[in-house]
Amino acid sequence: MKDLRDVIERIYNEVIPFSKQGKVADYIPALAEVNPEQLAIVVDTLDLEKFKVGDSEVPFSIQSISKVYALSMVASRLGEELWTSVGREPSGNPFNSLVQLEYEQGIPRNPFINAGALVVTDLLIDLYPRPKEALLEFVRKLAGNDDIYYDHRVANSERQNADRNMALAYFMKSFGNIHNDVETVIDVYCHQCSIAMSCSDLARSFLVFANKGVNPLNGERVLTESQSKRIGALMATCGFYDESGDFAYRVGLPGKSGVGGGIVAYMPGKLTMAVWSPALNSYGNSIAGIEAFERFTTSVKSSIF
Ligand code: GLU
Repeated sequence: MKDLRDVIERIYNEVIPFSKQGKVADYIPALAEVNPEQLAIVVDTLDLEKFKVGDSEVPFSIQSISKVYALSMVASRLGEELWTSVGREPSGNPFNSLVQLEYEQGIPRNPFINAGALVVTDLLIDLYPRPKEALLEFVRKLAGNDDIYYDHRVANSERQNADRNMALAYFMKSFGNIHNDVETVIDVYCHQCSIAMSCSDLARSFLVFANKGVNPLNGERVLTESQSKRIGALMATCGFYDESGDFAYRVGLPGKSGVGGGIVAYMPGKLTMAVWSPALNSYGNSIAGIEAFERFTTSVKSSIF
């Protein structure tokens, strides 16, 4: 593989113009205040080398990327039983859409649309007596950074504007697919989305998936090889909202995006890459982030396909 430092520095300069397009998420007021002129690219390799450029150490709101961590915690405890509550097919609909839920009897298409993530959060509450603490500890361990935190301002801002997520949760509760009190589920979900961590943390935390379920920082097995493969398959098919097909076509890596402008993806057995640029396209994905990933896999001539 080419010298990764040169590759990401070149890509960084090439995608700066894209970071000025699109707009930051504004349906969560605290996210609307983020300076869009920030850009970071980080690559971590499985032998724990790190290459970084730009605002790589600035913590930002990871939003939907947190769905991968929550899913990992639940999948590691529940195994296949999980799939009675949530599906594993791309939805083809926006991440916060309500339409499919009614004709699919309250079983969301996949764990990465909001409805599916709320079901996973509900299960997290069932499985872990202190779910918020357990989730934060899980993420900190994967990233090797105890400074990762919940941004309570973002969590409160989302909580005050959670009507649509509340509607999804109540609707699924009417089908018996949410067990806990909706207020509690939404509180944990809003905290989960508010996790603040840097691009550098993100890239490191996803090494576990590149490494078949073992955290390379401490050798701990977090997921079975099969669970890691299955979560990777979901990221490859559903990780980018209703732009997942296009991301697979242009980039060809399993990964996950969030409306905070972060994207993290990995090459199995090799490396992870995280990009942060807050301005989004109409699907909710970072414009410069997608450009950077496309240029990266083109440049290193490697993807999962
Ligand atoms: N907290 C966001 C929401 O529920 C997450 C969305 C995202 O990043 O896709 O609307």
